[in-house]
Amino acid sequence: MNAPEALDIIEAAMPAQRRSRQARVVWGDHVVTVGGGAPVRVQSMTNTDTVDAIGTAIQCKELAQAGSELVRITVNTPEAAEAVPHIREQLDRMGVKVPLVGDFHYNGHRLLSDYPAMAQALSKYRINPGNVGKGDKRDRQFGMMVEAAAKYDKVVRIGVNWGSLDQELLADLMDQNARRPQPVDAKQVMYQALVQSALTSADVAREMGLNPDNIIISCKVSGVQDLISVYRALARRCDYALHLGLTEAGMATKGTVASATAMGVLLQEGIGDTIRVSLTPQPGEARTQEVVVAMEILQSLGLRTFNPSVTACPGCGRTTSTTFQELAKQIDDFLRAQMPVWKAKYPGVETMKVAVMGCIVNGPGESKHADIGISLPGTGEAPAAPVFIDGEKALTLRGEHIATEFHQLVERYIEKRFGSAVAAG
Ligand code: SF4
Repeated sequence: MNAPEALDIIEAAMPAQRRSRQARVVWGDHVVTVGGGAPVRVQSMTNTDTVDAIGTAIQCKELAQAGSELVRITVNTPEAAEAVPHIREQLDRMGVKVPLVGDFHYNGHRLLSDYPAMAQALSKYRINPGNVGKGDKRDRQFGMMVEAAAKYDKVVRIGVNWGSLDQELLADLMDQNARRPQPVDAKQVMYQALVQSALTSADVAREMGLNPDNIIISCKVSGVQDLISVYRALARRCDYALHLGLTEAGMATKGTVASATAMGVLLQEGIGDTIRVSLTPQPGEARTQEVVVAMEILQSLGLRTFNPSVTACPGCGRTTSTTFQELAKQIDDFLRAQMPVWKAKYPGVETMKVAVMGCIVNGPGESKHADIGISLPGTGEAPAAPVFIDGEKALTLRGEHIATEFHQLVERYIEKRFGSAVAAG
């Protein structure tokens, strides 16, 4: 094996960029650009009954405050359609500008025609081509929804999902495949059906007069490898902005890991202009968890910066103390909780790096790479915790109150480093 030359330059991996069209999702003077070089956007969806306008508005607000840049709500009944303008009003009253996306299935054509106030209060419509009707009704009903979008100048997401894939199209493609001299794998046909359903629907929408910039495409599946294959195919075949998500990702660790794995691969290749992490909340878990995970995926890839990062070691036999774990969690929770206020008060604070390490092995080194870091004493080490600020050893904490004192040092660092940005600006 040859060692690299001493001065060989090793390039840092950078996510690729796919240039898509840019959609503008608008509410009042608030514009969320999607695609066309805009930052990858974070989306979420409520799980309240839309008829409960107050409850839904509160959850929309929570999701927006957590960092969701677009919030989707289901619009499934006339009562839900009637509630939508009230949800919008509530949000406006609370000063929450997040654009609302209406999720339509089966009866969206009728609801969008019968409830114009709802059609206007939404900023984007999600249309599932597999659920707009069958046979000759299909085109007419899809057309009615596209007409509403064109009339009110709204963005449309043509959102195909393999759980509700257009069965007529799938059966047709399966028949065509069976007649081939060498039929391909049924999975390949399914991929083809997903992509074709989305792109044919987009063609129809354009023919009906919808601005192509107002079209966003998604083809969601629940398998990681399936999602990667389908989106690579989509990205090769169109220049629409793409909404990315693993549908029915599942609960907790499984859903988080599967979403991060699938989206990580695609986002690294420049595929994906908005993302949603479809987590099943665990009992008692906040809906905002899906937003937290989406933001972490984008931040981990270096695509966006939302929150200061806390580096902590996993701990090992060199430390029996749990102080560093508790301190890391405490600092992380504290920083996240403060961010809604700090974003305005301390511009740039989201780029800060804090390290909380368990012993001398990697502690000082990792702390030097952070803006502020602490190396706690491992088993058998002297009871001293050196603190590094901007790469230099600044002081050593000792005694019972190391955690509280480090916490105070972090606060002071933020005030000094990022507070001056306001004064200077
Ligand atoms: S820094 Fe120390 S305690 Fe933490 S994982 Fe490394 S060796 Fe173990």
